[in-house]
Amino acid sequence: AKRAGAGRFLFFTRDMEDELREKAVFKSRLKQAVEGGEIVPFYQPLVDLRSGRLIGMEVLARWRHPERGILAPAEFIAHAEHGGLITPLFKSLLRQACQDAISWPEGLKIAVNMSPRQLQDASLAGVVLDILSASGLSPLRLELEVTETGIVHDLGTAKRLLGLLREAGIRVALDDFGTGYASLRMVKELAVDRLKIDRSFVMALASAPESGRYVSAIIGLARALGLGTTAEGIEDATTMRRIAAMGCDLGQGYFFGRPRPLEELAPWLARAEL
Ligand code: C2E
Ligand code: CA
Ligand code: CA
Ligand code: CA
Repeated sequence: AKRAGAGRFLFFTRDMEDELREKAVFKSRLKQAVEGGEIVPFYQPLVDLRSGRLIGMEVLARWRHPERGILAPAEFIAHAEHGGLITPLFKSLLRQACQDAISWPEGLKIAVNMSPRQLQDASLAGVVLDILSASGLSPLRLELEVTETGIVHDLGTAKRLLGLLREAGIRVALDDFGTGYASLRMVKELAVDRLKIDRSFVMALASAPESGRYVSAIIGLARALGLGTTAEGIEDATTMRRIAAMGCDLGQGYFFGRPRPLEELAPWLARAEL
C-alpha cells in the first residue's frame, strides 16, 4: 500500500510538472502572439436604442492563431492577466482600434476593455494618451470599460488614473454591472460615466419576466446618478423593445450583430454614414 501511495504521489507530481511546463509554454507563445500582432480587435455594434443608430463599437480581443484558428478571450485573457501580458495586450489592441477608427464616420466611438488590475497602475493614463495622440483619434471617441470588482486594492490609484483619463475627455463605463462587489462604492468613488447592465439580467428577461425589475432598478439608479446605461446581450427584437421602453440609452447584442473583424465592418459603417 505504501508503494502504491508513493507511486501515486510520483505520478501526481509528474502531472503537475507537465502542467507547469505547459503553462510556461503557453505563456511564452502568448507573449509572442501579442508582440507579433496575432491578438486582433473584433468589433461589436453599440446602438442608440431611441434612434436605432450605430454610435460605436466595443473592441473584443481575438487571437488569430495560425494553427488553432480564432480563439475567444476566455482562452487567453486570464493567462495574460497572470502572466504580466495584459497591459502589452491592451496597448496593442488600443493602437489597432485607434488606427481602424480614425477612418470611420466621425463621431463613432470605440469602447476598450481594461482588466481590474490595470486600475492599479496610474502610469497607464500617459500610455493611453500617447497612443491616442500618435493615432490622431480624439479622446472624446474613446470609452474604457472597467469591470467592477472587490479586488481594487488601492482605490486611490484607480481614482487618480481614471481622473487623469477623464480630464483628457475619455469616458469610463462600469462593465458587467450587477454581478460584482461594492458596486455603488465603485460607482461613486470612480465617478464612472456609464453602467453596462450585465447580459445575465438582460438575457433573463425572456425566460423570467420578473428580472425586468432588476433591469429597471439599474436604469433608475443610473438616471438618479446622471449616468448612461448600456444593455448587453440583446438577442431578439422583443428584448430590445422592452429594454428601450425601460429607458436604457444604448444596446449591444447578437440582435444588432456579433463581433466582427475589421474586414467585415463595411455594411455597418455604410449605414452609420447615412
Ligand atoms: P464583456 O466585456 O462583457 O464583453 C461582452 C461579451 O458578450 C463578448 O464576449 C461578446 O461577444 C458577448 N456578447 C455580446 N452580445 C451577446 C449576446 O447577444 N449574447 C451572448 N450570449 N453574448 C454576447 P467575448 O468577446 O467572448 O468576451 C468575453 C469577455 O472577455 C469580455 O466580456 C471581457 O470581459 C473579456 N475581454 C474581451 N476582450 C478583452 C480585452 O481586450 N481586455 C480585457 N481585459 N478583457 C477582454
Ligand atoms: Ca466590456
Ligand atoms: Ca460586459
Ligand atoms: Ca463579461
